[in-house]
Amino acid sequence: MPLVNGKYKANNKDPRVPANEVPAEVRAHNFEPVDTGYTYEDAIEEANRCLDCKRPRCVAGCPVGIDIPTFIRQIREEDEEAALATIRDSNMLPSVCGRVCPQENQCEGSCILNKTGDDPIAIGQLERYLGDQSESLAKTPVCKPANGKKVAVVGSGPSGIACAGALAREGFDVTVYEAFQTGGGVLTYGIPEFRLPKAIVKREIDGLKDLGVKFEYDAVVGRLYDADEFFNEYDYDAMYLAVGAGLPKFLNIPGENLPGVFCANEYLTRVNLMKAMLFPEYMTPIKHGKNVVVFGGGNVAMDAARTALRLGAETVTLAYRRTEKEMPARVAELHHAKEEGVRVLELVSPIAFEAGEDGFVAKVKLERMELGEPDESGRRRPVVIPDSEFELPCDVAVTAIGTNANPFAEMAADVKLNKWGYIEADENGRTSDPRVWAGGDIVTGAATVILAMGAGKKAAADMAEKLLAE
Ligand code: FAD
Ligand code: SF4
Repeated sequence: MPLVNGKYKANNKDPRVPANEVPAEVRAHNFEPVDTGYTYEDAIEEANRCLDCKRPRCVAGCPVGIDIPTFIRQIREEDEEAALATIRDSNMLPSVCGRVCPQENQCEGSCILNKTGDDPIAIGQLERYLGDQSESLAKTPVCKPANGKKVAVVGSGPSGIACAGALAREGFDVTVYEAFQTGGGVLTYGIPEFRLPKAIVKREIDGLKDLGVKFEYDAVVGRLYDADEFFNEYDYDAMYLAVGAGLPKFLNIPGENLPGVFCANEYLTRVNLMKAMLFPEYMTPIKHGKNVVVFGGGNVAMDAARTALRLGAETVTLAYRRTEKEMPARVAELHHAKEEGVRVLELVSPIAFEAGEDGFVAKVKLERMELGEPDESGRRRPVVIPDSEFELPCDVAVTAIGTNANPFAEMAADVKLNKWGYIEADENGRTSDPRVWAGGDIVTGAATVILAMGAGKKAAADMAEKLLAE
């Protein structure tokens, strides 16, 4: 630890310890992790840059309020077990969040070092480093004695997991009902292996099992069970609905139903959850395109484009109707995609797909756009440039233009939905049904892992307060 007159003196003027990324030309052709994470020496060096601020801005920037200066100090003091315990007080999924959270807009974006002209602390890398040590360090957090109350959590994505973990620690008897054959929600079926290895998601879920949380897979609530059964036959005291917002939006243009045109949800699910890249070892096929065009500018579009490269595409084009500047994807994801060879085509919009002689999609017709006045989101609205049509060869197309609420929500319980089908819930997740709480993407619309987790934690605290007072 850097000391001056026996007192800690941060090395904040040193540059941030860089990520250990695999070279783009190597990683673009396999599903191995893009970034191998910090070593012990890297973690200590980066922790030594933190000012240990008295009024730390980073904590306010974290949606779940992790005590960041404390865990960084504990790394510096080489007490990794304590550091991990500090994180786990607020966040049960450090290995996941360290990898996928948009830290540049959250904790790292708020770090005081941004103001002093130094590099912000690599909080995400340090969080990930600790989370990844957990096999050797993990001590199952202590749960309070059983309180006799039962809660059903519907959906095993980050929101359901966070709620289930927090309730289990308070002594609740918790069962998670998940429609898929395995847990994790988007962490498992959406975010690719090269960004978030599935073994890590599994390990985090196993941690919940150690807390006594039970999991029922292939359990589509609303089809196999409904709220009345949960309350009247299974004696649950409350329900937490965290069913996500995975229903794809479509372009609604001619040719969208041609073989070879996928929505990102299907494309990524085939590869991530059903391991289509290992066909025929796994029985799910996927089309390996030569010229792939992906439509969209968010994280989902980046994941689809980078997946297409790894499946062997010769060209992958990301077609977006605004410019790179307006893309909602994480800056790092766009940067990685371009480094790996994804070509960005700005200010274009598809108007039709056309089939080749074999009946499969062979080309896409597009038109060029320019930016007009700002719309309700504050971003400048794309406007068509007349007579600007052109074509691109395209034997696989993937649309990643957003999602809607999963329709199961309305079948699962008698809760009020808004006009778009999302559940109406207050800041603690309370819905119009006093026995039902809800949170995550099914309340906010497609958002982030950490916001979904924050909602799960808040709802768990509110449920505990209400149910234990009854
Ligand atoms: P989900 O993760 O969608 O989980 C909902 C779960 O409920 C699913 O497992 C579903 O099968 C289950 N379910 C649905 N209906 C039922 C039912 N009737 N019965 C039982 N189970 C049901 N966020 C980031 O912060 N960083 C990123 O880098 C990032 N990348 C992303 C990449 C992709 C490809 C996608 C799709 C999203 C990404 N996101 C990212 C967004 C983030 O993953 C979501 O905001 C988050 O997963 C929402 O969590 P959730 O728990 O609300 O829902
Ligand atoms: Fe460390 Fe930055 Fe947080 Fe200050 S704001 S405690 S420097 S991470």
